[in-house]
Amino acid sequence: MALAAHRTGSLSRRGAIAAWGVGTMAVLAGWGWGALLIAWFVASAALTRFGASVKQARSASALPPPAPRTARQVLANGAIFGLAAVSHTVTGQPWWGVAALGALAAAAADTWATELGMLWGGQPRGILSGRPLDVGLSGGVTPVGFAGSLAGGLAVGVAGAGLVGGELALAPWLGLAGVAGSIGDSVLGASVQAQRRCPNCQRATERVLHHCGAATELRGGLAWMTNDTVNLLCTLVGASAAVVLAAPRL
Ligand SMILES: [Zn+2]
Repeated sequence: MALAAHRTGSLSRRGAIAAWGVGTMAVLAGWGWGALLIAWFVASAALTRFGASVKQARSASALPPPAPRTARQVLANGAIFGLAAVSHTVTGQPWWGVAALGALAAAAADTWATELGMLWGGQPRGILSGRPLDVGLSGGVTPVGFAGSLAGGLAVGVAGAGLVGGELALAPWLGLAGVAGSIGDSVLGASVQAQRRCPNCQRATERVLHHCGAATELRGGLAWMTNDTVNLLCTLVGASAAVVLAAPRL
């Protein structure tokens, strides 16, 4: 699967190696976990490609052009899921499995919110400031994006509840955990994540080199708090929220 994703341009070479690692952890946890991860990955890749040229045009000022996913991006989304899923199978503790589902639900919620929000969400607003933001900037939210995050989290909840011995009634709580992770992602993206600005266009951006050709400057947030670090924390929030919300309902 990782090799195929590399060949079709979804993953870089090192991204494919990282994905193979996460996939191996999932399969070690059990075939059901591996199947869930593959379904998540195929849905994410399809949503990323859906309307890609429209999304790229709208977010050209804020985001670099789409590129194959790197090892850091893969691990930011999949590492906590893989470790928790293996821990679930090794220890037999159901809450590790719930944590794994929460991490994957958060990754799905974040991806679905981003991809659907950029396509149909219109002008985003800062989750903390309420001010209009350019499409694609971290910390920007839309009602469509919020609905997308709920759908993404719920999809993982419905597909995964049985892996921890839960009924379908567990799915909404896992979906909510995913939404919590994606809200955490937006709050961190609006506050501590590195913020850049183009001195030429006077616009906020996440690009190091702006689409106008000018080098951008760091203007706020923590330099080391990249989008990948925020995504890793997003899955950690999702895993923790799932343990709090869903584990007691098993
Ligand atoms: Zn510029």
